[in-house]
Amino acid sequence: MKEITLDAYGKLNLTLDILGRRPDGYHDLRMVMQSVSLCDRVTIRETENGQIALRTSASYLPCDRGNLAYRAAEAFFAAVDVANPGVALYVEKRIPVCAGMAGGSADAAAVLRGLRRMYAPQLSVEELCRIGERVGSDVPYCVFGGTALAEGRGEILTRLAPIPECWAVLCKPDFPISTPELFGCVDAKKLTSHPDTPGMCESLERGDLNGVLRRVYNVFEAVLPEKYSEVFVIKDKLLDLGALSTCMTGSGPTVFGLFDNAAGAAQTAERLRREYPQTFCAAMVNLGEQFL
Ligand code: ATP
Repeated sequence: MKEITLDAYGKLNLTLDILGRRPDGYHDLRMVMQSVSLCDRVTIRETENGQIALRTSASYLPCDRGNLAYRAAEAFFAAVDVANPGVALYVEKRIPVCAGMAGGSADAAAVLRGLRRMYAPQLSVEELCRIGERVGSDVPYCVFGGTALAEGRGEILTRLAPIPECWAVLCKPDFPISTPELFGCVDAKKLTSHPDTPGMCESLERGDLNGVLRRVYNVFEAVLPEKYSEVFVIKDKLLDLGALSTCMTGSGPTVFGLFDNAAGAAQTAERLRREYPQTFCAAMVNLGEQFL
C-alpha cells in the first residue's frame, strides 16, 4: 500500500469536568467525548527518501514539527520497529483551527492510523493510543474515536454506548480562546456545578437521548471571561432556532447545538451561517475497533 487517505474526525465534548490539579501541573479531567462527521482529510504517500514531508491546505499552519500530524509520523517511526521509508503527508483542513474540536489531534491520530495500516497492522488500539499520548493529550481519544469517557489528562479511555441518533450545528465565532488562559481561570475547588457524568454514561447506555441532552455541560462556561460573552449569545440563538441542548466544546470558542432531526439542524446551520461564516452541520460518528 503506497498511498492512503483517511477522514480525521473532529470531536465534541458532551461533558467536560475538571476534578483538580495534579502534581505535574496538568489538570485532572473527566470528559464524555463524541466524534462528529466534520473532518479533515489526511493523505499519506510513501516516498523513497527516508524523510517526513508535510503540506496542508491551510497556508498559515506549520509544515514542520510544529504540526501535530508531522509529530505523529515522527513518534510512530520512533516507537515501531520499522525504518521510515519516507512519507509525504497532505492535510486538507476543514475542521476550524483553534476551535475546541481537536482538529490538530485528529490529524495526528489519522496519521497514526494510516501508518499503522501501512507498516504495523499488528499494533493494537491501546498501543497506538500510547504513541499518540506522546504527541498530545487529545490524540489518544482521536485514535479511539466514537463515544468515550476520557479521564486523567484525557488519555485514560473507556468506550461508551454510542449516542442515540442526533445532529449537531457547530458555530465558531471569529475569535480564539487561549486554552492556558482558560485553565488559569479555573480553581477546581471553587467550581460549584459539575456535569452529571455518571448520569450521562447511564443515559447513553439506555439510549435515552433526552437524558443525554439534559446532561450536556462544560465547566469552562462557568468561568468564561466577559470578553468571550459572544459564546452565550450563540447558545441563545441556537436555542431560539430549535436546538434541544447547547454547549461550548473543549476550551471553545465553538458552540454546538443538538437536534433530533437532520432537517432542523440543516436549516439552523443555514440561518446562523449568515452571521457566523464558520457554521457547520454534522452527524454523530460512532466508531469502534473497526476505526483502525
Ligand atoms: P483542542 O480542542 O485539542 O484544544 P483546538 O481545536 O482548540 O484543539 P487545533 O485546531 O487542534 O485547536 O490546534 C490549534 C493549534 O495547534 C494552532 O496553534 C495550530 O497552529 C497548531 N496545530 C498544529 N498542527 C495542527 C494541525 N494539523 N491542524 C490544526 N492546528 C494545528
